[in-house]
Amino acid sequence: MSEKKTDMPAAGQEPLLRVSHLRVSFQTDKALLCAVEDVSFDVRKGETLGIVGESGCGKSISCMSILKLVQGENVRYENGAVLFEGEDTLSMTDKQLQKIRGRKISMIFQEPMTALNPLYTIGDQMGEVLKLHTKLSKKEIWDRCCEMLEKVRIPNSREIMLRYPFNLSGGMRQRVMIAMALLTNPELVIADEPTTALDVTIQAQVLDVMKDLQKEYGCSYIFITHDLGVISEMADRVVVMYGGRVCECAATDTLFEHPYHPYTRGLIASRPYRGMKTDRLPVIPGNVPSLNNKPAGCPFHTRCPDAMDCCREAFPEETAVGEGHTVACWKYAKK
Ligand code: SF4
Repeated sequence: MSEKKTDMPAAGQEPLLRVSHLRVSFQTDKALLCAVEDVSFDVRKGETLGIVGESGCGKSISCMSILKLVQGENVRYENGAVLFEGEDTLSMTDKQLQKIRGRKISMIFQEPMTALNPLYTIGDQMGEVLKLHTKLSKKEIWDRCCEMLEKVRIPNSREIMLRYPFNLSGGMRQRVMIAMALLTNPELVIADEPTTALDVTIQAQVLDVMKDLQKEYGCSYIFITHDLGVISEMADRVVVMYGGRVCECAATDTLFEHPYHPYTRGLIASRPYRGMKTDRLPVIPGNVPSLNNKPAGCPFHTRCPDAMDCCREAFPEETAVGEGHTVACWKYAKK
């Protein structure tokens, strides 16, 4: 697998995307349930930001909210802003968002079989993206799609264009999704668990393809995953989420070498590693709280080995513990 890139954008650089104090809730018959609370993070140009946490921590909802893809009568974007190229996507109309979705910001989903339409050929589905966002002729669209398929290392691209999703293996379908996401040369690609459904060999190949394409096109990635191995391989910086909140953010190496938040420490400690002397890994006891049963204060206090009285009362302010390294935990809160 190729090396992680080292030409990370400077910390002072104006971010490509800035999510500030995002709060997203769902109205139910009984209550307004908050899924994402006061979430803030930046994505710099050309970098990969990893977002980690167990299922139900608010990773996907935070990222889908960037394009207002969490939709429905019961969805409430209650607070916050998502600034992309200086404009707030949360205040945009659907028509304005259509110009950004798939053109400037695109998404890669976990399961390509559900994201691709089984009734249309790969060529039809890829071509549709370019028809929507460019003025290319039919032939130019066909050539561009074939070129992108070759870039994601799919041989016989012209033949693959005529096939249906079910004719392809899982790894090939995920490469098609990556090719589709990058067809319009977007500024930002949001990849939601893009390799979770793949076996490790294919996963390594797909990650390699994504890194090579990033080098070539200079796009930024948001990588959502619960797999810390993928994060250490791909991300320049990491945001750790728990209970719909950001609990820690740092450069990837810093986070793995000096994790502060008890949740981050628990995640890192529960990773398998080479030369393990035991067949039982440490686990974080308990489960992620459900939306309608979120504890008050720090949502991790029911599972935290270091919980104190104050943890049950209020959520801690974010504290800087190093350069570009912040943590939201009462243990490090400034007195
Ligand atoms: Fe644990 Fe308290 Fe820190 Fe939450 S704020 S992670 S409960 S020590």
